[in-house]
Amino acid sequence: MVDAFDKCHSWREYDIVTGMGLNPYYHRIDERAGPNEVRIGGRPMLMAGSNDYLALSTDPRTTAAAAEALGRFGTGTSGSRLTNGTLALHEELEAELAAFLGHEAALVTPTGFQANLALCPLLGPRDALLADRYIHASLIDAARLGQARLRRFRHNDMGHLGRLLEAADPGAGLIILTEGMFSTTGDLCDLPGISKLAAQHGARVVLDGAHDIGVLGPGGRGAAEHYGQGSAVDLHTLTFSKCFGTVGGAVTGPEPVIRYLRHHSRAAIFSASLPAPSAAAALAALDIIRTEPGRRRRVLATAERVGSELAALGFAAGRDGTPTIPVHVGETFACLRLWRELFEEGVFTNAMIPPGVPEGHALIRVAVTASHTGAQVERILDAFAAAGRRLNLIG
Ligand code: PMP
Repeated sequence: MVDAFDKCHSWREYDIVTGMGLNPYYHRIDERAGPNEVRIGGRPMLMAGSNDYLALSTDPRTTAAAAEALGRFGTGTSGSRLTNGTLALHEELEAELAAFLGHEAALVTPTGFQANLALCPLLGPRDALLADRYIHASLIDAARLGQARLRRFRHNDMGHLGRLLEAADPGAGLIILTEGMFSTTGDLCDLPGISKLAAQHGARVVLDGAHDIGVLGPGGRGAAEHYGQGSAVDLHTLTFSKCFGTVGGAVTGPEPVIRYLRHHSRAAIFSASLPAPSAAAALAALDIIRTEPGRRRRVLATAERVGSELAALGFAAGRDGTPTIPVHVGETFACLRLWRELFEEGVFTNAMIPPGVPEGHALIRVAVTASHTGAQVERILDAFAAAGRRLNLIG
């Protein structure tokens, strides 16, 4: 007889990696001890792997807005948007987000993951979806749940995308799906190339701006604004779990499309709506994003410094002008060892290993925030120098 739980008992990788002291996942944060300072398993640790790029999760204005909304509406909405869970705060946030991104309408969802799943009703059996090979798991799941034919193009390879568009069924509705800034590698999509191909082939462009909306572009409107191509994006998805410092997500686009998603997206209809404190925090964050460009300048300058100094130390560090700096290692265990040495040095980073990245492309993801000080940057660099020398990764 086969037990459906057998796979769990025979899963060995966990024991092997944990036994070697190399498990980078599910480390318990006991408390936050100051900007970017945490206690993990009783040890003080400098956080260098957080998506709180603009340091808004602890800003007094976002926390006060959340506290006020908590007092007014409580801890949860006790219903989905469709039924009893739509608050005035959701509608206000939708109007503000749509106006911010130059779109007609928005739908706020409980998470960014669900914002991407909410795309499913657009992916019909007569449509063809062309997606970058590096898209986030939530977009892959949306593609799997949707009915459109999925083809993946090589990362940012416009020649490959062009060939896939040429080969698509002429009767299919074409959708190109990619990310503004890629979550793992920190580089940007080739939006100018994509929008040119989209215009040639009559394709719609859907961009996940999870990591770039708030921090890129002069006004914080993301990769599209960075490229001066706001109108090239037909639909944007985004999350509040990074630049907005809270939780939640949204889809923005033309009013008829958003109305259709509002009534057809199972991820939005059959799930309780975003709690009021998060909606209020996101609104306060949006206001700060609009009015404080200095935060963007600060985090990007810090990222540039970390990237260039890591490269000077001899690491294969990416430098794409975003808050995420990938340090390419390659082999999975070498990456886990570097992660562990950095942890021993008191710096917490993210180890990205297969299947999160292709085999042989493991990397350490360093992410910086607007509140990292010069002294904290020194600690990150010193930790990399010490860890890299110990492991003979650098000279
Ligand atoms: N899209 C991308 C590109 C992401 O990196 C993430 C989160 N890691 C999401 C969507 C999901 O966002 P959330 O955390 O709000 O569910």
